[in-house]
Amino acid sequence: MSADHIPLPPPYRIKVVEPIPFLTPEQRRDAIETAGYNPFNLRSDQITVDLLSDSGTGATSSAQEAAAALGDESYAGARSWFRFRDEVADLTGYPHLLPVHQGRAGERILFSSLLKPGQICVSNTHFDTTHANVSIAGATPLDLPCAAAADLDSSEPFKGNIDLEALESTLAGPDGSRVGLVLMTITNNGLGAQPVSMANLEAVRALCQRFRVPFFLDAARFAENAWLVQQREPGYQDWTPRQIATRAFELADGCLISLKKDGLTAIGGLIGLRDDALFAQCEANLIATEGFSTYGGLSGRDLERLAVGLREVVDPAYLASRAAQTAALARMINDAGVDTIQPAGIHALYLNAGRLLPHLSPSEFPGHSLGCQMYLDGGIRVAELGSLYLGELDASYRVVKPAPFELVRLAIPRRVYTAEHFEYVAAVLGAIAKDPERIRGYRIVSAPPLLRHFKVRLTPIG
Ligand SMILES: *Cc1c(COP(=O)(O)O)cnc(C)c1O
Repeated sequence: MSADHIPLPPPYRIKVVEPIPFLTPEQRRDAIETAGYNPFNLRSDQITVDLLSDSGTGATSSAQEAAAALGDESYAGARSWFRFRDEVADLTGYPHLLPVHQGRAGERILFSSLLKPGQICVSNTHFDTTHANVSIAGATPLDLPCAAAADLDSSEPFKGNIDLEALESTLAGPDGSRVGLVLMTITNNGLGAQPVSMANLEAVRALCQRFRVPFFLDAARFAENAWLVQQREPGYQDWTPRQIATRAFELADGCLISLKKDGLTAIGGLIGLRDDALFAQCEANLIATEGFSTYGGLSGRDLERLAVGLREVVDPAYLASRAAQTAALARMINDAGVDTIQPAGIHALYLNAGRLLPHLSPSEFPGHSLGCQMYLDGGIRVAELGSLYLGELDASYRVVKPAPFELVRLAIPRRVYTAEHFEYVAAVLGAIAKDPERIRGYRIVSAPPLLRHFKVRLTPIG
């Protein structure tokens, strides 16, 4: 084997570490029961490997922390703002930039200015808070994922795409005049972390221009999408991930970004805009609700970490290593007998719990059951993405319309866990897959009407 064929290790080493706890099986049983069998209610000191979210959970670099020491906390016009603004302007090309404390604050501000009650927001798939904020603005979210997304096992490269024919017939149809926004989520977090192709974004832009509808990106994972484009889409092999990301931003009229993902920081978000009048409206809202327009709820130290993080995240060596880490975990899990959505994306893997636990019906929440078992057996925290999250329930919490799939999401924090942590996760899952019939279902005890999964409480059946 020549040195060219030896896979490279991650392009960083560990300088600061944080201990993780190992609880006994009894302690884990008590902990998850007290949490109402909702992993969002667990304390982090009860968790051995935390794959609940990749949002704000990444490790910062020594360069980011060094930059943070230069943070300027001036109320207005801080140096840190200009460093951040110049970096983002260079990356995105948008003339108007507004910082916000996290992605959903940007959603609230943009939608309350851009969407009118009765309008429709069309997306490849709305993220959960995005869906909620469209609804709060009085508009209706409409998801039009491409047909390929429905086949979890196919290896099609761009299952995050929007269905262009459905988009065109929506825009040309009787509801067309009600469409106030087309929002493309890159990568498609709600649908298997699948990427969106540049060809799809170009076609969306053309349709939006033809029908005079604003086109925005929900670009929390702009760098990871760019990496997958470079790897998978013909014509982009010689582009850098940063060039691809810049081109994607160029195609749209604006963007929302949760910088807790590809900003490589714990907190942060951003609205990017071209339209002057929309900017003025959003800025007034920002100042009233988030903070002055040169900090938007962020500290100068956060803005400094972000300015550096936005450069580090498009480093091809970093992206290659992160993609390889997720792909390796997918292979181990698949070899252990658990299917995942194919092909593996980057920020998360999605386990096909419905297939692993056919003895549980959707109203027994197989994805949730598998997630709880991963905690009970290994202290691993994950998120259900099935009928508990997406199903339609009646007033007594019975499932009247199940989710299309019963999935479990393993989100991968950036630069946090090593190959050994992932071997442990695969081993815990492998042991579960040897005897899946022992896993019981759950029923809901109480649930809020909006964003149910965050606050729901459950109990095991039987
Ligand atoms: C995380 C996320 C959001 C919301 O951002 P927060 O920073 O969590 O408020 C919106 N859209 C997508 C695609 C996301 O992944």
